[in-house]
Amino acid sequence: MKCAPFDYVRASSVEEVVKTLAEADGDGKILAGGQSLVPVLALRMARPSVLVDVNRIPGLGSVRPVDGAVEVGALTRHSRLAAQTHHPLLAETAKWIGHTAIRTRGTAGGSIAHADPAAELPVVAVATGATVSIAGSGGVRTVTADELFVSALVTSLDDDEMITGIRFPQPTRWGFAEFARRHGDFALVTAVVTEIDDAVRITVGGVGAVPVRAEAGERVLADGGTAREAAAAASAEIDPTADLHGSAPFRRAIAAEMIRRALAQAGIQ
Ligand SMILES: Cc1cc2nc3c(=O)[nH]c(=O)nc-3n(C[C@H](O)[C@H](O)[C@H](O)COP(=O)(O)OP(=O)(O)OC[C@H]3O[C@@H](n4cnc5c(N)ncnc54)[C@H](O)[C@@H]3O)c2cc1C
Repeated sequence: MKCAPFDYVRASSVEEVVKTLAEADGDGKILAGGQSLVPVLALRMARPSVLVDVNRIPGLGSVRPVDGAVEVGALTRHSRLAAQTHHPLLAETAKWIGHTAIRTRGTAGGSIAHADPAAELPVVAVATGATVSIAGSGGVRTVTADELFVSALVTSLDDDEMITGIRFPQPTRWGFAEFARRHGDFALVTAVVTEIDDAVRITVGGVGAVPVRAEAGERVLADGGTAREAAAAASAEIDPTADLHGSAPFRRAIAAEMIRRALAQAGIQ
């Protein structure tokens, strides 16, 4: 299938993006790496009247350390995230996203805005307590990752808003484990363990509409339990849905093992 017709605007500033989206009145879409949007257009699951290409906007492709965190510009490609050394958890995560071609084009802002339940970056955003900078007609605002992700492929972004950057706090310890059927496939389950402000967080992707914090597992650790006990508690509290890739019990079992591995990588036994 081919995309339905649309107007194309190549924006040279964030202000131009916001203005064009506002004029489109809910019928405009940002085009970043195109790795998720173009298939959606080709399948005619979306028919925007205008596409706003943000790829030529300067200054949105950098990764900068700031005050115990790393600022990632919305146009930072996954390949750049994988190659940077400021935030090792982000580097490890980005290596697991799709294949080389997808990592070369796909952007951090696009992945966060697309909010795919199986995507890696949203899990790390929730796991680290990341904040997302957003520009819109009403000005600039910042939301936490928790506030941004509403449901599968649904965020709290307004129609005229653009993500300009994401600030990922630096965890003092971390672990990452993912299970996919084949290398480069979307994850069936992703587990991310982070220690932020002396507290260990267990965050799981692929088991719900949005990344899930396994708080029962976190409490087991806070109370002095072992990694195995925490993984068991965490996997018991999640409520995965079955799909053609795996039954709910299968995902739960995989989640327990991924959590255990992520805890081990974080040095938690
Ligand atoms: C074969 C294949 C395999 C893949 N495997 C994985 C995988 O394993 N893990 C994974 O995480 N991802 C995977 N992806 C998706 C990939 O990571 C995409 O890069 C990402 O989901 C979207 O980023 P993008 O820059 O391509 O955004 P686009 O496709 O351009 O846009 C996606 C959506 O986000 C919106 N958008 C884009 N940028 C912004 C912004 N700055 N502000 C507001 N809205 C914005 C667009 O309007 C659109 O609705 C895969 C894709 C393909 C085609």
